[in-house]
Formats: sequence, structure tokens, C-alpha cells
Amino acid sequence: MKSLLPTNPETCPRCMVGRIKRKLIPYSLVVDGQLLSVPRFPAWVCDVCHAYMFDPAALSRLEASLSARQETKKAPRTHRASPPASPAADKPLESF
Ligand SMILES: [Zn+2]
Repeated sequence: MKSLLPTNPETCPRCMVGRIKRKLIPYSLVVDGQLLSVPRFPAWVCDVCHAYMFDPAALSRLEASLSARQETKKAPRTHRASPPASPAADKPLESF
């Protein structure tokens, strides 16, 4: 006799009752101190307990594009050295 509960990827792993469906929901994250929002991010949402998980494939694609963007952002920094901080800057100017 077959198992009553076959491995169904559409069954919610949290409540084991609901079914998860692909939806586009808003997703926001902080990258480099800046809030980045994706208004329609692919996710899986349970129709019973409303648990949701963001689509892992879409997440890794987003992370890949973010890290690529950070690398290009870092590049111009190499030929523009910032001046070294002078120790005198710690003292208040109006000390006389
Ligand atoms: Zn559920």
C-alpha cells in the first residue's frame, strides 16, 4: 500500500496542511546601508498558515547581481586614495 502522504513539494512544511503557491510579494532588504525594495519578488506562500518563503532561485540570482554590483562599485576606489587622518583632528579647534 502506498503512503498516504507522498512527498509533495506543494505541501506547506510548516503546517503540513496548506499548499504553497507561487506568488509575487514585496521583498525589501538592506544592502550597503541602503534599503532596497523589490515590489514583486517570487515567493511561495501557504494558503492556510500564510507562511512564506522567498524563491531560493530568485534569491540567489538577486544575491549574485548584488555582489556583482558591489564589485563594480569598489573598482573606482583603488585609484583614489583617501588622505590619512591626522591625529590633530581629534582636538577641538577652539581650545585657546
Ligand atoms: Zn502552512
